[in-house]
Amino acid sequence: METLDRMRGTLLGLAVGDALGAAVEFRPPGSFEPVTGYRGGGPHDLAPGEWTDDTSMALALADSIAKKGWDPDDQMRRYLRWYESGVYSVNEHCFDIGNTTIAALLRFKATGDAWASGDRSEHAAGNGSIMRLAPVPIHFASLFPNRLAELVGRATESSLTTHASPQCVSASIYMTLVLCGLIHGHAREEVLDPGWKPMREVRQTAPFHPEIAEVVAGSFRRKRPPAIIGSGDVAKTLEAALWAFEGATDFRGAVLRVVNLGNDADTTGAVCGQLSGAYWGDSGIPPEWLEGLARREMIEAAFAGLVA
Ligand code: MG
Ligand code: MG
Repeated sequence: METLDRMRGTLLGLAVGDALGAAVEFRPPGSFEPVTGYRGGGPHDLAPGEWTDDTSMALALADSIAKKGWDPDDQMRRYLRWYESGVYSVNEHCFDIGNTTIAALLRFKATGDAWASGDRSEHAAGNGSIMRLAPVPIHFASLFPNRLAELVGRATESSLTTHASPQCVSASIYMTLVLCGLIHGHAREEVLDPGWKPMREVRQTAPFHPEIAEVVAGSFRRKRPPAIIGSGDVAKTLEAALWAFEGATDFRGAVLRVVNLGNDADTTGAVCGQLSGAYWGDSGIPPEWLEGLARREMIEAAFAGLVA
């Protein structure tokens, strides 16, 4: 499989997982007909194949990287345009946004300083920075494995703008390394092994927050639902996405496994979709899910900009 196929899979997988989960967001597991494909409705009353803030923020981040290289202030200006004007949205409106993200955007609007806009408190531990992460490992994949410090810097800063808590930053670094490893064709069991060399190296200089360290060490292997939950908490989201990814034999099985946990299903779907897309590639995503994705041209354009 080509590297480019896995890179495309990382971004398209994010959007597909988001769109699959959107219809059952906020629903407790078992309270809905199991998801097997796109369906309309949900809290935002979307059409089948439409996606939410996870994909919108990834498109804004991708656009910033394509146009400005690495510029966190520019990333925040683009998130703000999405929030205020609906740019990067599937339907020209911002209809789904997390509280931590709103607070960061309002601080940025007042100060113009992306470095000081994200909430650093351990209590602000939502999954908003890993849900949109794909553009970072895609565009900066060439920093892996010889320039890990730079790669970790990008991963850290991509989270800091809105989600600056130690859990969120650790999760962003972990996801970036795993996604880069998968994009470069490393085996799933290799990159998920807590002793994987690049991960060991990074942990020596940037130890993970204990909640993330527990997931990295393999909590997702020991637990099963109902201990695995589709929560908006970053460590729980990561745990659920890894549980679904590791226990599946294809993209379809992985993403359906996680969105059927309900609750923050669009985001667990987006996180698992990135991992699964990086591993099974764009060619491993069911064709009907690619064809049914709303405004696919926006995602294709963002991808083209990232790899240009
Ligand atoms: Mg969402
Ligand atoms: Mg969500």
